[in-house]
Amino acid sequence: MAITYELIKTCKQTGARLGRVHTPHGSFETPMFMPVGTLATVKTMSPEELEQMGAQIILSNTYHLWLRPGEDIVEEAGGLHKFMNWNGSILTDSGGFQVFSLSDLRQIEEEGVHFRNHISGEKLFLSPEKAMRIQNSLGADIMMAFDECPPYPAEYDYMKKSVERTSRWAERCLEGHNRPNDQGLFGIVQGGEYEELRRQSAKDLTSMNFPGYAIGGLSVGEPKDVMNRVLDFTTPLLPDHKPRYLMGVGSPDSLIDGSLRGIDMFDCVLPTRIARNGTLMTSEGRLVVRNAKFARDFRPIDENCNCHTCRNYSRAYIRHLVKANETFGFRLTTYHNLHFLLKLMGRVREAIREDRLGDFREEFFEQYGFNKPNAKNF
Ligand SMILES: [Zn+2]
Repeated sequence: MAITYELIKTCKQTGARLGRVHTPHGSFETPMFMPVGTLATVKTMSPEELEQMGAQIILSNTYHLWLRPGEDIVEEAGGLHKFMNWNGSILTDSGGFQVFSLSDLRQIEEEGVHFRNHISGEKLFLSPEKAMRIQNSLGADIMMAFDECPPYPAEYDYMKKSVERTSRWAERCLEGHNRPNDQGLFGIVQGGEYEELRRQSAKDLTSMNFPGYAIGGLSVGEPKDVMNRVLDFTTPLLPDHKPRYLMGVGSPDSLIDGSLRGIDMFDCVLPTRIARNGTLMTSEGRLVVRNAKFARDFRPIDENCNCHTCRNYSRAYIRHLVKANETFGFRLTTYHNLHFLLKLMGRVREAIREDRLGDFREEFFEQYGFNKPNAKNF
């Protein structure tokens, strides 16, 4: 098996899991946050910088790499790791989410999905088999099954049909996957907010014996309490000896709340995307560095942070760069936000080790300001 999971310990206070996922390109500790490198690059960061800040696994998007430069070029380069010079682990998604979220002209059939390229308008088709072929060429350590991700909210009847189709597609993915010894394929549990459908989806997928499972269809616009409720009844349906990945989640509160419910892996464009707007995550909450009040503020972004950005640059300087659209400004804000989340996950793992993740949650939420009635979140 390309991917194995080692459970190190369970937090006595919360049931959260401390573990390790082993991949063909090394292992990483869990719970873990995965920075997103859509086009085989985490925007503005070099692989050396990612390594420096403690990233151990990154995510790349199949849909985007398929359209450009094309998976054949990545394969010819020796796979994604060689192509982008990243020696840690990589996960690729299936392209399904982008097909459903980026293209408006799409037609879903049993065979797959017809849609238009969001850049050129060209007609394209993606199916479970094709998503596997592309991901086999990209060569990531972890690949994802091709699923349907319905929008929120979706009617029960539609969701039921969609869950059944996703299970049939998952079987076709397993059959179409040609490199099971080098690449681990994860199944994706869907079912929206409906417990019965999550149960059915988890039952179908766990019977297919994937080396890991994702929970999809969350963080698509539903309130946070709905997400937590879905996790409460879905996570226990997944096997203990395999990694669990909550897709598309990356706000500090949700990373803690997901870990607390037994999730091991997370990814999200949030920290890198907001960094390019000049919005920063700090130990005292959200900081919008463009604001005029920082024009003469020569303190670091976060006085409790020891990242490269905070050790060397001031709010005033970063504000100036971001307002002037200078690339270096976006590099500094991206570095800080990713470092902040990777360090946060380190603190989450430490708290699990010491059986106090519940206490840590309270302390963090208090300091971050999440407990205030009008707290600004992400
Ligand atoms: Zn920092």
